[in-house]
Amino acid sequence: MAKTAKKTAWEWCSKYIRLRDAIEYQEKHPDVPFGYVQCCTCNHIIEYNRNCDAGHYISKGSGGGSGVYFDERNIHAQCKSCNGFHQGRQVVYHQFMLEKYGQKVVDELEFLDKNQSYHGKIVGIGLMYKQMLEELK
Ligand SMILES: [Zn+2]
Repeated sequence: MAKTAKKTAWEWCSKYIRLRDAIEYQEKHPDVPFGYVQCCTCNHIIEYNRNCDAGHYISKGSGGGSGVYFDERNIHAQCKSCNGFHQGRQVVYHQFMLEKYGQKVVDELEFLDKNQSYHGKIVGIGLMYKQMLEELK
């Protein structure tokens, strides 16, 4: 079965997010070997390319597609347990967002969730994240 453009875009996006956060983690902890991230909601240290997801703060919009689904401020390295089993741990994730970005950005994301659409831009977004991933490497 052919992959949809959205799936392809998400694969690049997810890889980019996890690598971004692994680089950030290593910059903060220079004595730790590269390859680890801290889960944004339970703080466990995990391997960025094994038991790690790219987890959304706002996952789905009212129409089924959130306007911030591909917004990199809305996505962070998260362990599979928090992202899947605990359905994102929304309350803790909200706290994380406030500490990292502040209320203004959280409000902006909540606004864009309802008022922005990726319709017709998915292929471009996929290529953008692919490019951003290459630049991080
Ligand atoms: Zn976790």
